[in-house]
Amino acid sequence: MTIPACQTPKGSALSSCIESMAEGWITSEDLCPACTRSFIAALDGVAGPLDWSRGYRRRAEGTESR
Ligand SMILES: [Zn+2]
Repeated sequence: MTIPACQTPKGSALSSCIESMAEGWITSEDLCPACTRSFIAALDGVAGPLDWSRGYRRRAEGTESR
């Protein structure tokens, strides 16, 4: 699996919003579309295909503007 590049430049030392989430700055609902896809793929890999909510699916598609 290729990891898509983070689409949200944070202007900080953090390289991606997944890193920001790991460090507690943001939550999984704040991830950019690329990182949302990585997050979903990772958890699907752990727990099998999950029933992702509409919010997650829309964000993964990049159709939700913030
Ligand atoms: Zn990101």
